[in-house]
Amino acid sequence: AKNQGRNRYHYFTESMQQQAHYRMRLIQDLRQAVESSAFELNYQPIVELSSGKITKAEALIRWYHPQRGQVPPAQFIPIAEDTGLIFPIGNWVFQQAVKQSADWRERLGVEIQISVNKSPVQFRDEGVRFQEWLQTLQQLPGGGICIEITEGLLLDTNIAVSEKLLSYRDAGVQVSLDDFGTGYSSLAYLKKFDIDYLKIDQSFTKNIDVDASNQTLCEAIIVMAHKLGMKVIAEGVETQQQAEILKRIHCDYAQGYFYSRPVSSSEFEQRFLDAKRP
Ligand code: C2E
Ligand code: CA
Ligand code: CA
Ligand code: CA
Repeated sequence: AKNQGRNRYHYFTESMQQQAHYRMRLIQDLRQAVESSAFELNYQPIVELSSGKITKAEALIRWYHPQRGQVPPAQFIPIAEDTGLIFPIGNWVFQQAVKQSADWRERLGVEIQISVNKSPVQFRDEGVRFQEWLQTLQQLPGGGICIEITEGLLLDTNIAVSEKLLSYRDAGVQVSLDDFGTGYSSLAYLKKFDIDYLKIDQSFTKNIDVDASNQTLCEAIIVMAHKLGMKVIAEGVETQQQAEILKRIHCDYAQGYFYSRPVSSSEFEQRFLDAKRP
């Protein structure tokens, strides 16, 4: 039995070693990807439910690794956060999104607000970059960019979150609260912050058409959010039935595979903006 235990232990450490090795390689590759700008942004349309119009898009980062293929952001963003690489990556995402919004506006005459995910690590510690970003934004009219933050950030008492959000607001940036419902903040608490949109997490939208309690929950969130002056975006909408229910319970916007997966900027343009060309 003792021997078996030792073997198991051995096996365990070996796999931990493998994991650590894999992680180290990924960090190296990520560093290189940052240097060679090996990233791309995909865009997923956000649909206004009352009109069916696409007025917004969420920018989602993509990394195509020459050997590994596509590495999902859920895998490399946490590593980027641990290593500080999130700063150059986040900066690139932001610059790229501002450029894209300005390009669609100038070339096609359409106003598409682009939503950018902002890592809490970056938000906490962006220092001088912050002023740079406000500068970058001056090439856009107000409302061209929205940042998506998560609930955990609002509970962080070490940083002056509301002041920072105010400076963004002054620069014409709107703010979304991402993954709402998965954290701990209450709706009443959100009143303290200037938040424009609540994004209801996919785990709630997922079963809205089969689970009555999920529907009740979404309905309550929407009513309260509206009373507090926020609009609501439902994430992860995959079926027409889900979209119809959300519209019926007065959800403002919807986003999900039912409308489109995240696509390249040229595909987004072809599929969703061509008809709007003047
Ligand atoms: P998120 O911000 O909650 O983004 C939504 C995720 O759900 C995206 O995954 C999107 O492709 C996926 N999704 C959209 N519609 C549906 C649907 O109908 N069904 C299902 N099952 N999934 C749907 P993705 O692109 O893999 O991104 C995962 C996470 O990685 C994001 O979650 C976000 O937290 C992070 N992320 C992505 N891009 C960036 C970025 O540029 N910066 C930072 N800091 N984080 C990013
Ligand atoms: Ca998001
Ligand atoms: Ca989300
Ligand atoms: Ca998420």
